[in-house]
Amino acid sequence: MADTMKAAVLTGAQNIEIKELPVPKLDEGEIEIKVSACGVCGSDIHMWKAGKGWGKNMKDFVMGHEFCGVVTNPNGSDFNVGDRVVFWANLYCGECDMCRAGLEHLCRDVNGTNYIGFVCNGAYAEKFVGKAKNAYRLPDSVSDVAAGLIDPLMVAYHAIRKSGIKLNSKVLVVGTGIIGTMIGELAKKQGAAYVAMSKRNDRKLARAKEAGYFDAYFDEGEPDVRRKMIEATKGGFDVAFEVVGAESTLDACIHTVKPGGTVVMIGNSMTETIPVNINRAVLQEVNLLGSVSCTREEFTGTIDLIANGIIDPERYVTDIVSLEELQSTFERLISKTDPILKAVVKP
Ligand SMILES: [Zn+2]
Ligand SMILES: [Zn+2]
Repeated sequence: MADTMKAAVLTGAQNIEIKELPVPKLDEGEIEIKVSACGVCGSDIHMWKAGKGWGKNMKDFVMGHEFCGVVTNPNGSDFNVGDRVVFWANLYCGECDMCRAGLEHLCRDVNGTNYIGFVCNGAYAEKFVGKAKNAYRLPDSVSDVAAGLIDPLMVAYHAIRKSGIKLNSKVLVVGTGIIGTMIGELAKKQGAAYVAMSKRNDRKLARAKEAGYFDAYFDEGEPDVRRKMIEATKGGFDVAFEVVGAESTLDACIHTVKPGGTVVMIGNSMTETIPVNINRAVLQEVNLLGSVSCTREEFTGTIDLIANGIIDPERYVTDIVSLEELQSTFERLISKTDPILKAVVKP
């Protein structure tokens, strides 16, 4: 009897079906794991809406890139059966100039956009087979659910490190999702004196408010909100994090940082271009920094952040769901009223 596994398969636009699929065969350098937990990501929503992954020929595609599990076949690697591992979804060649410089997330070969669960099957399934070099052992102090949040946390960690936040910095986070929420916590812990969030509505804010790392919340739609932010900071933010990827939110960041301030751009735009007030950036020497994923070293650093108790990402998980509940979870994620902030699938 062929070995099969239950998987949540994206079969069309806004449609996930539970199917029995064959467990993938292992190639050289690959290991097999039993999936313990897999975070549901905002970027999954885009693929779910479109009904396809990023690669060609992605019929019966399985998403899921924020995952951990237990090794069931080490296939000659350094791992043993029973090891708990987390996968870094960022594929990289390991040989180009970027990879050799320790900037694997900017690998020439994969161009920073080739991730497990986007261009090949991911981990919304009972089992997953992938390269051993993308797997990292999990310390006992990092739970399965927490490991399901390493992926968004690494994005926050990389952005914080790029931002140059110092003791006493004033910081703005634009966006209310899991990455923005964790950026707020890390910014405070990095020494920021004042951390504000700019929001469009309150639906996802309960966990951030409970955690208490944000000093203020501003309503994006309120007239005069930019003036209020500049007053509240006595002259503007040192650093603004844009975690939405839209024209109005990027413009708000550029206009509310102080002269010489920094805007860290994390949000992916759904359109190729967004108009930006270039003069404000040039004449006031506003630094515009792109930030994506993280380096390989920062990935292991992110595991350490949790293991060392610097952040407990589990506090931001609002929903633990089964594979069968994944379809309704996506429906909830696109609703305008549901308070879901972060869901983790336990297959
Ligand atoms: Zn993700
Ligand atoms: Zn490379």
